[in-house]
Amino acid sequence: MIYILTGGPATGKGTRSEILAKALNIPHISTGEMLREVAKTNESINEMMQKGELISDEIITSLLEERIENPDCKNGFVLDGYPRTYNQAILLDELLAKHDRTITKVMELVVPDELAFKRILERKQCEKCGEMYGIDFPPEVEDVCDKCGGHLSVRTDDTKETLAKRINTYRENAQAILDYYKEKGLLMTVDASHNPETVVEDAKNI
Ligand code: ADP
Repeated sequence: MIYILTGGPATGKGTRSEILAKALNIPHISTGEMLREVAKTNESINEMMQKGELISDEIITSLLEERIENPDCKNGFVLDGYPRTYNQAILLDELLAKHDRTITKVMELVVPDELAFKRILERKQCEKCGEMYGIDFPPEVEDVCDKCGGHLSVRTDDTKETLAKRINTYRENAQAILDYYKEKGLLMTVDASHNPETVVEDAKNI
């Protein structure tokens, strides 16, 4: 089972991927999360992410390869944030073919731009464990993580300027990726405006 969740910034890829991965008992792999870890010790990656720019295909693909070779991925995984370019879609196919694996389904999450802006400008992340909170999932105590008690703060790349850039980058690249998966019969489109739990039903209905 290999599910790919794709969609613009703040369409809820992280939340839905997490729910789906739990229901299927497979790991959730987020390339954004992986890169935020790397960015803590790598200034050039940090700078690119702050500007809302994409990290090179080579770097992100080798990180991904290392991750999916981990034994916890043997029954599959839910991938969020990759592929982000047509080239990455091709690289992913090559990578999976090398391991005799294929994609089960690609779910494209769609929300109106205004909602994405609202979600993104109000969301916060735990500095310690990475848990996300937002308008639909507020923490019990303001700015304190329910899970680990860590402090919640706004992601440093979640600004109006960066978001506009990230939405544009998504749009520039998305169509070619979506067409590619549509042709292969792998694409399904999901209204991600509400009820993240429906992702499990959506996946079951395939
Ligand atoms: P969002 O989808 O809200 O923009 P992510 O957490 O998925 O957030 O990604 C944050 C940043 O990480 C991106 O703006 C980009 O700089 C980098 N990134 C994540 N995934 C990739 C990828 N597959 N290729 C290149 N850069 C990536």
